[in-house]
This record gives sequence, structure tokens and C-alpha cells, in this order.
Amino acid sequence: MSEPRVAIITGAASGIGRALAVHYAGQGVRSIIGTFASDPHDPEETLKLVRNAGGDAVIHEVDVRSAASVDSFAQRAVDEYGRLDYAIANAGILRNSSLTEMTDARWTDMLDVDLTGVLRTLRAGAERMTAGGAMVAVSSIAGAVYGWEGHTHYAAAKAGVLGLIRSIAVELGPQGIRANAVIPGLIETPQSLDPVNSLGPDGLVRAGTDIPFGRVGTPAEVASVIAFLTSADAGYVTGQSLVVDGGLTVKMRA
Ligand code: NAD
Repeated sequence: MSEPRVAIITGAASGIGRALAVHYAGQGVRSIIGTFASDPHDPEETLKLVRNAGGDAVIHEVDVRSAASVDSFAQRAVDEYGRLDYAIANAGILRNSSLTEMTDARWTDMLDVDLTGVLRTLRAGAERMTAGGAMVAVSSIAGAVYGWEGHTHYAAAKAGVLGLIRSIAVELGPQGIRANAVIPGLIETPQSLDPVNSLGPDGLVRAGTDIPFGRVGTPAEVASVIAFLTSADAGYVTGQSLVVDGGLTVKMRA
């Protein structure tokens, strides 16, 4: 029997990252649960869900704004389990700021997490992976398809992720390492439930009525797609970006 696979997941104390750790647990993939110090969500809850699903994981604090922090996070996989197979750049922030209020500091802070943080995570993963390794970065329909007022920095970062993924795929393909992105639509998580920077609870319900599926998505519905993209079932897929949105972005509005 082959050794269990090992994944690093940034931002796994909540939302899509937590759902992915739980999904992986069901598949026998071990996770390093990335938790961010100032996040109010409890990574122990992710760990509990992983164990309930019969899986194995460890919690490790990581700040994707620091290369040293991300490197030690990725190294934890090697130290704890002796290998790293999957790197998931999931951590992200969302802030609301109009263009005229978009200071350089706001712009830079956003890109540091949502774009450079992805680079740091995938780079640290690449340094520790061998053939058969796979990476997934989490983009957004706001970076791939839609414009969103008040979110130019977020949109630019999430669009940047897609260019980054294509080039990483080409660069690491010869080593047998794959890189893909998911592009979530509206998914009910702490990020989207924030009424200041995103739609909030009421906004999500309203938005759901305009989605062909009649509702917003769940974190698990994105997690399973990420897991597919890292799995051997997607073994010849690299450099791609997959929209997970219940039909939101393909719906024609008359
Ligand atoms: P979430 O807020 O639950 O998850 C984001 C995670 O990122 C949190 O756990 C947070 O602690 C972590 N994080 C923030 N700053 C960090 C830092 N500096 N270092 C390390 N971790 C940090 O929300 P989510 O929706 O699950 O977000 C996951 C990803 O999905 C994000 O990249 C987000 O932009 C993206 N996304 C979400 C939606 C949606 O509708 N929820 C849509 C498109 C894309």
C-alpha cells in the first residue's frame, strides 16, 4: 500500500480551507491545517472534524505575508509526515474600498496576502514536492469574470493568481508537478458573510435567487473540486482554472 498523501492548506481554520481538510481526511490525505493568529476561528474545530472523518492532521500557524512563516509551514509537512504532495494556496482577505480611497497601502496590503501570499505558498510547496505533486490556488469570479465595485485590489490579486498558475504549470510540468486554480462564485463562508467587505447574510440570500441553482455554494462544494484537481483523476490537467459557481457566471441576463 502506498504512503498517505500530505497537503498544506493555508487559511484552514474556517470556510473553504476547513472543508478541504475534512474532505481530504475522508480520502486518507493528511493535512497541515494553516491557521492565522488574528483569525477568530478555532483551528481545533477543523482538527476535530478531520478526526471525526477518520483522518489525521496537525495545526500550524502561518502568515502568508511572510516567506519565512510560509517556508516553516511547508517544512512542517516534511518534518511531521516525511513528505509533501499537495500545496493549497487558499488564504485570502477581502476588503471594500472605492478607487478614490484606494491608498497605496490598501492596495499593497491586499496584494501581499491574496497574490504574493499565493506565490509564497506555491513556491514553498514546489521546493518540497516531487513528481506527482499538485498545487491549487483559490481565485475568484471577481478576478476571472466579473467586475466588482469597491474591490479593484481584490480583483487584481485574484486575476493575478490565474496568470501565476498558468506560468507555474508550464515551469513545473517537466518535473511532473501540476498547478491549477479554482474560481469560486458566491460561497457561504466567514468572508462572504461579512456585510462590510462582502455581501453579508442578507446579500447572500438575495444573490442566491439570481443563481441558476437558486442558492449560493457551500465550502464543501469548492473543497471537493480542489481535491479532484490534486487527485490522480486530474493527472493530465495543469494550468487550468475551474469555475465553481452554480451557473452564476454563464447565466444570460436579458
Ligand atoms: P474565510 O475567511 O473563511 O477564509 C480565509 C482564510 O484566510 C481565513 O482562515 C483567514 O484566517 C486566512 N488568512 C487571512 N489572512 C491570512 C494571512 N495573512 N496568512 C494566513 N492566512 C490568512 O473565507 P473563504 O471564503 O473560505 O476564503 C477562502 C478563499 O476563497 C479566499 O482566498 C477567498 O478570497 C476565496 N473566495 C471566496 C469566495 C466566497 O464567496 N466565500 C469567493 C471567491 C473566492
